[in-house]
Amino acid sequence: MDRSIAGTSTRSAPGNPAGRPLTICPLCGDGNLGTVYRFQEFSVLKCRACDGSWRSNMYSPGDITAMYTGDEYSKNPYFSYDVDQFQQAARGRYANYAGALSAIEARVGVGTLLDVGCGSGAFLTVAQQRGWNVSGIELSPELSQVSRRAVQVEVMNGAFESVALPDESYDVVTMWDIIEHVLDPVLCLNKVSRILKPGGVALFCTPDEDSLLARAGLFLYRVSGGALSYPALALHPTYHTYFFSRTGFTALLEHSGLQVERCYSQEAFFEHSQLPSRLAKWGIWAIEKVGSWADRRYEIVCLAQKPG
Ligand SMILES: [Zn+2]
Repeated sequence: MDRSIAGTSTRSAPGNPAGRPLTICPLCGDGNLGTVYRFQEFSVLKCRACDGSWRSNMYSPGDITAMYTGDEYSKNPYFSYDVDQFQQAARGRYANYAGALSAIEARVGVGTLLDVGCGSGAFLTVAQQRGWNVSGIELSPELSQVSRRAVQVEVMNGAFESVALPDESYDVVTMWDIIEHVLDPVLCLNKVSRILKPGGVALFCTPDEDSLLARAGLFLYRVSGGALSYPALALHPTYHTYFFSRTGFTALLEHSGLQVERCYSQEAFFEHSQLPSRLAKWGIWAIEKVGSWADRRYEIVCLAQKPG
């Protein structure tokens, strides 16, 4: 598999199992790196060439497997989609799903759809109800079982990176809040590109480092000399390996052979988070509101098409 990005040399292995700081960007191979945050447990490093960021103490493949196959993940109400507990967030997320499917259907109609990291099958269920022939992949054995029961179709249990999938076999591949959790985003994007049919569409949703919320966290961190690190730290949670900006991520998509058709921001939901105060909750709400006018809400959704 060609794991290089056009215009750069072949990258070294991703991740950082030995815990040493990476000296080249794991996304593009460039050596022009900086440090954005120095948190107590880890730093956030950034590549000035491709605008990608990542945690300094990168996980090993074993860490990732442990994180997503244990109860802490599968029983987490956010990941398991506890609609009863988080009704407002669930309504918002379902609205986001419906809006994205409308945008996809306007381009390719309805066909075969693979949801990578399908969790408890919430998105698969919505897509299936709209006539899509759905299938999913999920790392957690428990949640893949929950998904299977929800949609009564094949849900593969395993890591997307290692599951064997045939070339050009899906009209649509979706990754909702997944690409920021993997060890090798470039490998994943290349694989999505490979398994899409010509003319097929990929959807990616991920937090945006250039969103107003992320910018506000960075501002507070900088003006306080690092003392006000909580907002920035909350936006760089334990589960995330990489942190993308809209410009950096769309460039990465283009490098994987996909043509970015549309990129828009959407509201993220923090109902599950243990916010420290009503002020924090109000602040997030207000920043996201302003972000909606500027199309700079916390998450970006990118639709990218494989050339026909
Ligand atoms: Zn880079």
